[in-house]
Amino acid sequence: MTVLAPLIVLLVAWALASKSEFYGDAVQSLIKVVPYIIALLALFMSVWYQNSNSFYLVCFVLITYIFIVVSQKNISMLSEVVTMVSILLPVNALWLGFSRERGVFSSYGRKKALIILVQLIWIFVNMMSKSGTPATGDMTESFIGIRVPAVVLYIISVGLLLSCYILKNINMNIIYMAILITSVLSLYFANRILLVSIFTSAIFVIVVIALFDVSYSLAFYDTLTGVYSRRALEQELLKLGNKKYAIAMVDLDRFKHINDTYGHDVGDEVLKMVASLLDKNSGPGKVFRYGGEEFVVLFTRTNYNDVMPLLERMRRAIERRPFILRSDNRPAEKPEKNRIKPSKGKGKINITVSIGLAQKTESLKTCFDVIKKADEALYKSKNSGRNCVTKI
Ligand code: GH3
Ligand code: MG
Ligand code: MG
Repeated sequence: MTVLAPLIVLLVAWALASKSEFYGDAVQSLIKVVPYIIALLALFMSVWYQNSNSFYLVCFVLITYIFIVVSQKNISMLSEVVTMVSILLPVNALWLGFSRERGVFSSYGRKKALIILVQLIWIFVNMMSKSGTPATGDMTESFIGIRVPAVVLYIISVGLLLSCYILKNINMNIIYMAILITSVLSLYFANRILLVSIFTSAIFVIVVIALFDVSYSLAFYDTLTGVYSRRALEQELLKLGNKKYAIAMVDLDRFKHINDTYGHDVGDEVLKMVASLLDKNSGPGKVFRYGGEEFVVLFTRTNYNDVMPLLERMRRAIERRPFILRSDNRPAEKPEKNRIKPSKGKGKINITVSIGLAQKTESLKTCFDVIKKADEALYKSKNSGRNCVTKI
């Protein structure tokens, strides 16, 4: 979705741009206001989701779009704007693409605002300094906006964003990359305002899609572990109806001890590791974080007899993979009284989980009944000494 959507937007924008000569006056006027409308939507969504990076990038692109519009009659002004934007935009995309998110209007956000504002004033002053220059040459021809240094900056920025997307799978990087590529087209055709409007609109559409994507992720993925959230589970359960399915409840054993001994941060890391192991070994099962240190694995299209071996595989995968403590994670020399001393010198924590399984039957009418049964099965696993799977 993150890769495909910007690509489709870009292709649609290109298709619209290639037909721009045939548009009537009414359509042309409409195209010129579209960037403002979509920008407002993008700004509103950025504030709503407290995404300062997209907020300030949209501000920058929108105001520079206005500069390009007002300097259409004077090639010197236009060239100045395009030269500056083509240098500042890749730098900003790189900076905001990697900048941490701490709110739009927080003191951190206001610093970003200040940097963008200074840049915009700088562009404006330079643009106005050229306003006295008489418009020379034919605006529709020989307009070379993007110069060599900007091309180099663009290549570096796109390269860095792409490599980080590949290495770290940060989806937002692909969005910034798409914005940069679209902006090249916009700046390249800066003397044809209709094309600028189309490509600028495309940039804002890409931001809006990215923000929808972020909001979806916030709702349906657990932010700590990256597996599906409880809300996603609720949605999924609604869809099940009378179909056959099985639900496994997974609970970490003596997790409170891990928190008490090594601290909450290590506890969080352990949860992440367990979630990822569950996810990798769940086969056709879908893993959700149910809450705290409990996970649910939902099997909708798996034969009930095949589920037990899968759960055994998950249980064993976790048992076999101790959590390795980094040196800065180890507890201080003197642990608090109620803290358990970690096994000395080893630097690793053995993790186990207990699992309970139940399936939809005639007598278990709703998904809540099945979850309750799975919980009972889990309770049995805990009572049988933990680190095992029980089915009902
Ligand atoms: P049992 O084997 O019976 O399940 O023992 P337990 O210690 O795992 O169970 P208990 O319910 O007593 O403790 C669960 C602990 O999980 C308590 C809570 O502090 C911890 N916990 C819940 N959510 C989180 C979280 O997001 N991060 C961390 N670090 N700890 C969490
Ligand atoms: Mg629990
Ligand atoms: Mg537990």
